[in-house]
Amino acid sequence: MCRIMDHNEEEKIREIARLLPTAEINFELVQQAIQQMINAFGENPKRHGLLHTPERVARMYAELLEGYREDPIAMVNDAIFEVTYDEMVIVRDIEFFSLCEHHMLPFMGRAHVAYMPNGRVIGLSKIPRIVDLFARRLQVQERMTRQIADMLNALLVPSGVAVVVEGLHLCSMMRGVKKHDARMTTSTMLGAFRSNLATREEFLDNISRGATPMRF
Ligand code: ZN
Repeated sequence: MCRIMDHNEEEKIREIARLLPTAEINFELVQQAIQQMINAFGENPKRHGLLHTPERVARMYAELLEGYREDPIAMVNDAIFEVTYDEMVIVRDIEFFSLCEHHMLPFMGRAHVAYMPNGRVIGLSKIPRIVDLFARRLQVQERMTRQIADMLNALLVPSGVAVVVEGLHLCSMMRGVKKHDARMTTSTMLGAFRSNLATREEFLDNISRGATPMRF
């Protein structure tokens, strides 16, 4: 077990994660609801292609929403290390898929994450896991961006954290005015990334270098 974080820190981290109390989604209820929706659309739920759809959708939501139930402490426990390294760490182009909480349609894209260590670092493979922890929920992109930054800030207590998220929102692309390129960029800058222009620019230059347009 990790001895780097103390009890108070672990409490704070779980608070940021806002986990739901139940161990899993209510499969039975989701299946009933999907069956009712199929009926309400005027379709025939007994039709061959739709017969197992409620069950499939329930399993799908369990997977797409698993971020609500993953304990962040267990997730990162063995991957936080004490080191004296204090240069900027950047992980860019982290692919994510989330569900917009207003329409329950996907939004997806890339997250770019950076921090300035101040005694602690985290294994690089854990940063995409933290992005998923918050992406796999009913979300809005602004809150997701903030939560990723807050989580890293609480875990590592670094000199600064920066998160930039670029997302394509199907609810804008498929509906209404049908803006096919409904891309949104959100960012959270904490500590040195907020107070120090050179630090912020180093990060922003890095993530724009060689950036390719998002394609889905
Ligand atoms: Zn939406």
